[in-house]
Amino acid sequence: MEPGKLVLASPEAREACGVFGIYGPGEDVSRLTYFGLFALQHRGQESAGIAVASGREITLFREMGLVSQVFDEETLERLTGDLAIGHTRYSTTGSTTLANSQPMLAEWRGGKIALAHNGNLVNAKALRDELEQAGERLEASSDSEVMLRMIAREADRAGSVEEAVAACMSRWAGAYSLTILTEDTVMAVRDPYGVRPLCIGRLNSDVHVFASESCALNVIGADFLREVGPGELAIADADGLRLRVVLPSPRQAVCVFEYIYMARPDSQIEGHLVHEARRGLGCQLAKDQPVDADVVIPVPDTGWPAAIGYAEESGLPFGEGLIKNRYIPRTFIQPDQRLRDLGVRIKLNPLREALQGRRVVMVDDSIVRGTTKRRIVNMIRDAGAKEVHVRISAPVYRWPCYYGVDTSNRSELIGARCAVDDIRDAIGADTLGYQSVQGLLRGLGISRRKLCLACFTGRYPIPIPKDVKLSKLDLEESDWRQASGEEEAEAAVPSPTETRE
Ligand code: SF4
Repeated sequence: MEPGKLVLASPEAREACGVFGIYGPGEDVSRLTYFGLFALQHRGQESAGIAVASGREITLFREMGLVSQVFDEETLERLTGDLAIGHTRYSTTGSTTLANSQPMLAEWRGGKIALAHNGNLVNAKALRDELEQAGERLEASSDSEVMLRMIAREADRAGSVEEAVAACMSRWAGAYSLTILTEDTVMAVRDPYGVRPLCIGRLNSDVHVFASESCALNVIGADFLREVGPGELAIADADGLRLRVVLPSPRQAVCVFEYIYMARPDSQIEGHLVHEARRGLGCQLAKDQPVDADVVIPVPDTGWPAAIGYAEESGLPFGEGLIKNRYIPRTFIQPDQRLRDLGVRIKLNPLREALQGRRVVMVDDSIVRGTTKRRIVNMIRDAGAKEVHVRISAPVYRWPCYYGVDTSNRSELIGARCAVDDIRDAIGADTLGYQSVQGLLRGLGISRRKLCLACFTGRYPIPIPKDVKLSKLDLEESDWRQASGEEEAEAAVPSPTETRE
């Protein structure tokens, strides 16, 4: 976080980018991309960009800010073409600058390539060093530029962007869901573990769409076809849609936080509607962490479906006790504690009439550092609640993320430092109940083998280089053995295959 800035009372694990792509000759592709990005705004609010190709040329526009701030009629009018990609960014690797905004553009001997990335490479530093030693001068500090420059260099060698992407995939380790644009082709790529979501839609028989979440397909009227498979490269061009498995998947490891908090509730990921997944978590939480109370209230917005599930299962009435203002900036300067507390008030205001004299169950999705939760609990008490019982639809958050969610270092995670009773006292709740990992899996109805649960278990499905892992663990070298022993082994990678749709 930048000094002097405060993330308001949103959940403290932050989103990490939305990507979009469309092959649509005859369509207003820049406006459709704009609408798609609008639907993906929740995944990143720092910058937005669209790259449009006309068959001969790629035009790029990107700026810091929300989609609605970055693009106006005039800008969209200038972005004319038949195919496009777009991006909304929340930084994970690299700082918050225009140079790190996306899509990014590079040249190869056959033309230009634009790239939009959601995820995080765990071997980015080694790859960056390699590029710099080979004489590349990188302008940004993100792993996304490393990926783009690697593709451009490989395309120079192979003579084809598609082959270059396929070759680079075997060198990238970590989480990546990409959309890639050339003058006449849009591609979508997902890492072999499928950590971040990426789906394919069809607007009509000639128009194919790629998006981080299915809600972006819905808003432009496209039908959901299927997910881009783990290790798969999807290519949309004048010949239609082609699907090519480049790296068969050792195992799937979809980020469980997509279901818990990050994705929009109206999106579908791997066949599961996110709203239903969250409601299931709330039902399971009510079974495992019951409490005698008068009303169940959500922390808006992501706590809503789990609170509905909790109320349904427990038989307690559901109520709206906190009203969220959706129209304030995400961050702002906060010079002292009084203004910091006021910041939470500006975002969330209690509904006194719903809380006064009542025993309240407050349902939320996670506790990262605990500071925001404490302010919300205080706010509910100040509004006259007799008791505040906090129920969290995720298990205790103990380990940092290396795959594209911007969380704290381990020492900043309250769940890594404190027992549940101590966390309860720190946030000022009467009782605190977390979901167990078993409860999480039961509530979601998804197999453990299909998910990344590393935030809760410390078992990272994609091996992480020692220096990268240590950078977030705040460990002494002597503690490394224990930390590294918690990784899961990676399975062997079978040979590539190709299919056509
Ligand atoms: S470590 Fe946590 S946030 Fe990161 S991908 Fe895994 S489950 Fe998601």
